[in-house]
Amino acid sequence: MGQRGAGESSSERPVVIASNRLPYTFSRTERGLQRERSPGGLVSALEPVLRKRGGTWVGWPGIELSEAEANIPPGGSYRICALPLGADEIDGYYHGFSNRTLWPLMHSLAPRARFDAAEFEHYVEVNRRFGAAAAGEATDAGLVWIHDYQLMLAPVEVRLQLPEMPLAFFLHIPFPPYDIFRLLPWDRELLRGLLACDLIGFHVQGYALNFLDCVERTLGARVHRDEMLVEYGDRTTRVRALPLGIDFERYESLARSAPPSQAAREQLVLGVDRLDYTKGIPERMLAFERLLERYPEHRERVVMLQLAVPSRSQVEEYRSLKREIDELVGRINGRFATARWSPIRYLFRSIETERLCGLYRDSDVALVTPLRDGMNLVAKEFAACQVAEPGVLVLSRLAGAADTMREALLVNPYDIDGSAETLHRALSMDEEERRSRMTALRRRERRDDLNAWVSAFLEAAGVERAALAPLTGHDFSRWLDPFLKRYRLALFLDYDGTLTPLCDHPAQARLSPDVRKAIAACAARDDIDVSIVSGRALSDVLGMVGLPELTFAGNHGLEIGGGQIPHFVHEDLIHYRQRAEELGRALARCEVDGAWVEHKGPTLTYHYRAVDENRRANLIKDVHGIVALHGYQARDAHCAVEARPPIGWDKGRAVLHILRHHYGPAWSEEVRVIYVGDDQTDEDAFRFLAGLATTFRVGSADTPTSATRRLPDVNAVAALLVWLAQRAPSDA
Ligand code: UDP
Repeated sequence: MGQRGAGESSSERPVVIASNRLPYTFSRTERGLQRERSPGGLVSALEPVLRKRGGTWVGWPGIELSEAEANIPPGGSYRICALPLGADEIDGYYHGFSNRTLWPLMHSLAPRARFDAAEFEHYVEVNRRFGAAAAGEATDAGLVWIHDYQLMLAPVEVRLQLPEMPLAFFLHIPFPPYDIFRLLPWDRELLRGLLACDLIGFHVQGYALNFLDCVERTLGARVHRDEMLVEYGDRTTRVRALPLGIDFERYESLARSAPPSQAAREQLVLGVDRLDYTKGIPERMLAFERLLERYPEHRERVVMLQLAVPSRSQVEEYRSLKREIDELVGRINGRFATARWSPIRYLFRSIETERLCGLYRDSDVALVTPLRDGMNLVAKEFAACQVAEPGVLVLSRLAGAADTMREALLVNPYDIDGSAETLHRALSMDEEERRSRMTALRRRERRDDLNAWVSAFLEAAGVERAALAPLTGHDFSRWLDPFLKRYRLALFLDYDGTLTPLCDHPAQARLSPDVRKAIAACAARDDIDVSIVSGRALSDVLGMVGLPELTFAGNHGLEIGGGQIPHFVHEDLIHYRQRAEELGRALARCEVDGAWVEHKGPTLTYHYRAVDENRRANLIKDVHGIVALHGYQARDAHCAVEARPPIGWDKGRAVLHILRHHYGPAWSEEVRVIYVGDDQTDEDAFRFLAGLATTFRVGSADTPTSATRRLPDVNAVAALLVWLAQRAPSDA
């Protein structure tokens, strides 16, 4: 397992941060391009890290910039890398896949999500560019830290370019349960994207557990819930709940200095949100209406002030929400207003932070009732600003903040009656209770503030790369016992990279005595039949394994033989004998810089392991061209290109041939099938066997797979074989 400590020195090295937006907002005015620092708390928290350690912030500038403009001067001691996006990309990647697919889905509001393959393509491409830009900035960095749902695939590219770079991700929105996440047609891709990281941070434990569930059930990853680790192929990822905090002191001090926000004639109920359907603004207004219905004593004595900050107005759903809220405010005000009082005051704009802090301070109740929210900072800011008469926080139990802000009055925002009752309780609460609750809330938010969050994240990202303990019989039992119960097992094993580590030359890849013993022990059982399926020539793999009683498929299944099956050679191969020789001669031209061609009868393999990395791309391109020219199919393998005749036969077909021969056409009722392989050519078998077998892909997590599960390395395969050989007989 690739152990690489982030080490102490890396915690001092530069950091590369990638987020959808830069820490600056850009606008074009008569005075030219203007750049203003983004007001968000996150920027204020991350900038000091960049200033101290140096590094780069990679992000989209938000508007189109010319090449000269995109060369933004550094923000103090760190660099800014502005990634331009074209109009189509902004539509597809940002408004489309990020905000119309992921945003609603991740907030468990699935019916609002739309799935558009073209938008996803933009997302993939933009993420690839973000990843490449981050990697390009990170050559001497100690950490690449990627933020949020717009960039869930960016880690893949960073990992490809910098395999050893400490790589971390923080998701600022919820992670939904498996049953919701799997609605996404690209669920596997996004999960794999995140698993390219060493650390993934979520706001709360519930989201982290949802993620673990998803990677286990969707990808078949190995999950350790106590240690919060995921093993996927040869990589282990740490998963942590790291709740975001706010700059408590800043809000508190702004609240102390802000001028009074209103004459205290009525009790003030405050709502502050971006205008977003996740925030539950209509439901909140209905709850307020119900309060006025049920408790007329609040009429003319309570005012609800709803601040809605314009957001994503390009998206139709946001525009229709705006209309819905406008109508609701009109209807409720029309119903209850008197000559001297209107129940709801509604502002559709943003206000300066200082004024906002004054409002927080002077409100009697903050009604923070999202239908779903990753964290919700308004709840925390409200608490920080309670420097005078303490108010009451009414908080949705569906906001991440509810996990820690336990002293708030929690509501289910869908329950209008319940919310109205809780609001009544909040408005009627005596000072002693208000003070007790608010004191506890404030103490926690002061302690777990934004700086504490940054430190906790960097600390988690800075520890030694995680590794799960090697697989044990317990893991295999859990995965395979129910599957194998009372059945014979047909066990198919690839050779190179599966039973032996990959070597510079195929002749060096000798089977270890232990693995040979474990295979033989499996084969010796009455209830296991072992077949070896290899890209090597049949005679070659037979010789390497040295257990002639097994069944063998060589040349990717074109030749089948061994002790238990009549010799088989695909009938069309006869037509390819001459072409294979011609192709061999043509490929000989590419035998440069240590590359060489292996002649395996009807198939050939071009090996380039010994070739310098930066010379490979051109050679591979040439080889593919030559193979195609000779009417052969090229297939990429580990540091090799396989050339096979295009006769619709592959490892999957070969497995079927063996299964039908051994067990008849109803084989699927007779046996359980396990296939273990490490290579692209094994993917044919994985795809063919989907739903019919348990399949394992060995090795790197960087390539997609159709296998049911992954195994980290050859040692894990050996452990599997030993377990299979030793398990109780299947009729027990
Ligand atoms: N906010 C703002 N301008 C306003 C009203 C609110 O910048 O006029 C800020 C508010 O202070 C808070 C943020 O918007 O920091 C909202 O964060 P939250 O986590 O509640 O929701 P999000 O918008 O991230 O979904």
